[in-house]
Amino acid sequence: MGLIEEAKRYIVGGVNSPVRAFKSVGGEPPFIERGEGQYIFDTEGKRYLDFIQSWGPLIFGHRDPDIEKAIIEAVQKGVSFGAPTRVEIELAKEVLELFPHLDLIRFVNSGTEATMSAIRLGRAFSKKDDILKFEGCYHGHSDSLLVQAGSGAATFGTPSSPGIPADFTKHTYLAKYNDIASVKKAFEEGDIGVVIIEPIAGNMGLVPADATFLQELRLLCNKYGAVLIFDEVMSGFRASLRGSYDIYKIEADIVTFGKVIGGGMPVGALAGRKEIMELLSPEGPVYQAGTLSGNPVAMSAGLATIKKLKKNPEIYKTLEERARRLVEGMNLIAKEYNLPFSYNFVGSMFGFFFTPQTPKNFDDVNNADIQLYAQFHNKMLKEGFYFAPSAYETGFIATPFTEKNIQETIETFQKIAPELKPTKNFSTSKGEEKKEKSPEETSKTPATSGE
Ligand SMILES: *Cc1c(COP(=O)(O)O)cnc(C)c1O
Repeated sequence: MGLIEEAKRYIVGGVNSPVRAFKSVGGEPPFIERGEGQYIFDTEGKRYLDFIQSWGPLIFGHRDPDIEKAIIEAVQKGVSFGAPTRVEIELAKEVLELFPHLDLIRFVNSGTEATMSAIRLGRAFSKKDDILKFEGCYHGHSDSLLVQAGSGAATFGTPSSPGIPADFTKHTYLAKYNDIASVKKAFEEGDIGVVIIEPIAGNMGLVPADATFLQELRLLCNKYGAVLIFDEVMSGFRASLRGSYDIYKIEADIVTFGKVIGGGMPVGALAGRKEIMELLSPEGPVYQAGTLSGNPVAMSAGLATIKKLKKNPEIYKTLEERARRLVEGMNLIAKEYNLPFSYNFVGSMFGFFFTPQTPKNFDDVNNADIQLYAQFHNKMLKEGFYFAPSAYETGFIATPFTEKNIQETIETFQKIAPELKPTKNFSTSKGEEKKEKSPEETSKTPATSGE
């Protein structure tokens, strides 16, 4: 009996987060025993080059000695007190120092908690109930954020999961990523008090926003008195040291963090302008709390990570160079074998799509050959390359990755490419295939992209 079968007897679906079950790519997930640098090893001792890195947090790879040391030292002082500790101040200072527009921070235990609390705070500040999110952006699994496009002309969403009352999501409006007209429409129809967006979307593959789109979004929020939340749970400290801020220079009212900020331990955070953040309890009336929030072991891992990033800001150039080499190399192979392919990369994040035009929004992403991704995933996994088990995820490069690792990955893609069988035809323009935009029509973003 495989471990997944045994796990299923005790744990729902055998996993504690659904994507790990490999449902969208098929096959059985390897159970991981240990990690070292850029590699993970499963229970059979098989080694994989790990392009997931715990879904982003491990920017220095597995078992970074500085982070490991910080965790061990913290554990030796006691794992939790539920009382204030000095390390919380230190991490808060290190993070806030990076952002002139963020005055105060609150630490929580996950990205889900950070965005949920940020929305509550934004509603309290704007004194409006309606919020706006974008199709294809993921902000964790809280009720009001699990929405999909409703039927007909309605711009507000319907629950994307059973168990969420439609009453909860009727306040959540949906707009199209990189499409400012859809944002204007939502502002006209709803009484929007909060807008939440991944400025560098990483949960529909990697789709960076156009700079002009984000600028207009900021102006619309100002015009309508809406609080703008940048969800940088994934892009924070990943796309660059300051996440989207280094790239777009746009100041959100609240920024949410997660993943890298905890260095592999469960940490999330929301930070913002003083007059907004001061509404949070105990300073203000907006309730928010957590038994393990600001946990000293987790804070120590985060502090060691952020300090190391600030001490070595040049790593982002190297990481982006590796990401670029990877997707450009794969693109050449794809062209050679007539596979539809496009890609994006920003700092240590990369994404590729089995569709010829680089996606700008969720519809474009859905138009890709998802079946082809599953084939790619299975074959690469067998060869020892651990890519995300879903076409809707971002890939991550960590500092231990070498030029040789990238070269090996490209060579392995070349080896398996002849066996890949596309299931969609992009060359015809009839039937259900959408008309593709010409490259001239798609405005360029400051983040690099190509096809
Ligand atoms: C991962 C992620 C979340 C959710 O974080 P969890 O720690 O999994 O709850 C929220 N927003 C974005 C952009 C994410 O990538």
